[in-house]
Amino acid sequence: MILFPCTSCGACCLSIDGIEFLEEYNQNGKCTNLENNQCSIYESRPLLCKIDESYDKIFSSYMSKEEFYRQNAVACNKLQEKLNIDIKYRVHITNVALIKIEK
Ligand code: SF4
Repeated sequence: MILFPCTSCGACCLSIDGIEFLEEYNQNGKCTNLENNQCSIYESRPLLCKIDESYDKIFSSYMSKEEFYRQNAVACNKLQEKLNIDIKYRVHITNVALIKIEK
């Protein structure tokens, strides 16, 4: 089983302004559940924060998993660049990962 290769950079948790489903956690764009750059409610975090589960339950009706991963990776990397997060955290979707997804 392949999961989205999140690098735990925390950029998404620092950029929740305007995301309606996460509004209750929004404090000046930062998620109030982010502690020491880690999610303090990880096991019970909202569906939108669970990339693979949200694909299965919501986005699989709209696009392939390959496309979903690609779009998420682009979004992650853009957020990281905006927040000047070290390049070592960039998300890379490899051809090997995509082949395994298609099987
Ligand atoms: S921005 Fe992407 S790589 Fe960083 S924590 Fe969020 S999902 Fe993971």
